[in-house]
Amino acid sequence: ASKGRRWEQNMIQLSQLKLKIDHTEEELKALIAKQLKLPLSQITDYKIVKKSIDARKKKELSYVYNVEVTIQGEDKLKKRIHSPGIIFGERPTYQFIPEGRKELLNRPVIVGCGPAGLFCGLMLARNGYRPLLIERGDEVDKRVKAVEGFWSSNELDTESNVQFGEGGAGTFSDGKLNTLVKDAAGRNRKVLEVFTEHGAPEEILYFNKPHIGTDRLREVVKGIREEIIALGGEVRFRTCLTDIQLEQGRVTGIELNHKEQINCQVLVLAIGHSARDTFRLFHDRGLKLTPKSFAIGVRVEHPQELVSKNQYGELFHKLPAADYKLAYNSSTGRSVYSFCMCPGGFVVNSSSELGGIAVNGMSNHARDERNANSALIVTVTPKDFPIMEPGMEALAGVEFQRIWEKKAYRAGRGLVPVQLYGDLCNNRESATIGHIIPNLKGKYTLANLNECLPDYVTETLIEGIKTFDRIIPGYADEEAVLSGVETRTSSPLRIERNDHFEADITGIYPCGEGAGYAGGITSAAMDGIKVFEAIGSTFSNKGICI
Ligand code: FAD
Repeated sequence: ASKGRRWEQNMIQLSQLKLKIDHTEEELKALIAKQLKLPLSQITDYKIVKKSIDARKKKELSYVYNVEVTIQGEDKLKKRIHSPGIIFGERPTYQFIPEGRKELLNRPVIVGCGPAGLFCGLMLARNGYRPLLIERGDEVDKRVKAVEGFWSSNELDTESNVQFGEGGAGTFSDGKLNTLVKDAAGRNRKVLEVFTEHGAPEEILYFNKPHIGTDRLREVVKGIREEIIALGGEVRFRTCLTDIQLEQGRVTGIELNHKEQINCQVLVLAIGHSARDTFRLFHDRGLKLTPKSFAIGVRVEHPQELVSKNQYGELFHKLPAADYKLAYNSSTGRSVYSFCMCPGGFVVNSSSELGGIAVNGMSNHARDERNANSALIVTVTPKDFPIMEPGMEALAGVEFQRIWEKKAYRAGRGLVPVQLYGDLCNNRESATIGHIIPNLKGKYTLANLNECLPDYVTETLIEGIKTFDRIIPGYADEEAVLSGVETRTSSPLRIERNDHFEADITGIYPCGEGAGYAGGITSAAMDGIKVFEAIGSTFSNKGICI
């Protein structure tokens, strides 16, 4: 199989072009011309490929650009210009041609329609494999109704909620699309391009911290599903994987909704981090699972203006709502850090199990709500997990999450427990809300979060918040609003896979965040593409019977 870089000529990459935030398009063109030592009239065809804000000097806020310029007679320029900020040639674009030869008797089955499953499915469909995607939750429009119903009535649908349903866990999210995963093969760019093909704003292709927002993401996932179906794939909602059939160390079939059996030779497990019953099923069927570290804590809300002013100074209103990233190694020996920060967003009740409460954050594309919110979380390792019955150790992290989510449910008497930071420090239930009004989707009540967090987490959080106040003065406001508990930060276990992306059972491909190979929307989608490549390298699309 051929994959990776393809370089095209007649293209010049310019980086680190810095201009004041209120610059005009002409000024950008003029700067490009200056760098290339060309008259302005020759700069007719250019594209911004990266845009970031430089806020180091608050009185001189700037945008920094990387651009791609097409110039006639570029060979002459090559001889004249030598600068580290100028590269001749186009950026690599993603390419993969499936050259697998093994016969596939049944179409590949993908479990889960989150980013990992959708991208694996889309790439398989685009290459003629006509995959079957199954998803335990509803298609996105119905799911939105189910979730909004839950937020207003507090009656949870355990199959279609913030964690489960079309689009996966990130559908009700801020839709941050940045990732730290290295991208020599162009998969990251491919993911962003697919998003724009299905309605995401073009800016995600060049903002250094792209985000799409829950409102736009819902439309995008629908478009991806429609393309899969148009290419001969099938997507079935309210369809849960309930068993797998194995013969001589390979998968041969699956059971859906406890009643329907289908033959299956290639099974992609893109189930996310919250399908605890499915993890248990894999455990019972002998898949190799390993507990892993993750982090737990709370969501914290501050006024967005406090954050934006701190990041950008008095000119903050000229720029999009600011984010932040904070981390601290505390004297308890644990780290506390901000995670999944949502500028101008909502805290959401993102529970998926009866009798437990988990929270997270989301925002619309405009990020124009009054509060900034972020998870503030503390690392926990398998040493912190409960002692399990012999043979059940792999599920200890799942049990750990469940214990604290149940305590949150009790602390909030079934609603999201909310507390002011000052009261967390004094270990007392909050009596009133202060000047920061929670912006929370779901019902909440004032409570004492000390009752639903391990002491070492509370201690580390308090120390962290005090320290973060030095970076963002006002962060340790006694009236900052905390909601609990944030437990679904990443998967509590890994489904082991080999270099060919296969589990220890032949034909099973663990994929995405739940399997432990991604953290976030884009990296999960990229992992979906990697699993597609693994399947395409082994199997041919010819002869698939439906
Ligand atoms: P998931 O998206 O979890 O998808 C798994 C799917 O599998 C689910 O739809 C589930 O219903 C389905 N499934 C599970 N078991 C079965 C079964 N047995 N049968 C059939 N279907 C099954 N990440 C970011 O990068 N940026 C953000 O801004 C962001 N914000 C977030 C906000 C919220 C509220 C939440 C909950 C998460 C957020 N995340 C964010 C994390 C991000 O959503 C996940 O990292 C990402 O969705 C993981 O993708 P995935 O495809 O691996 O799994």
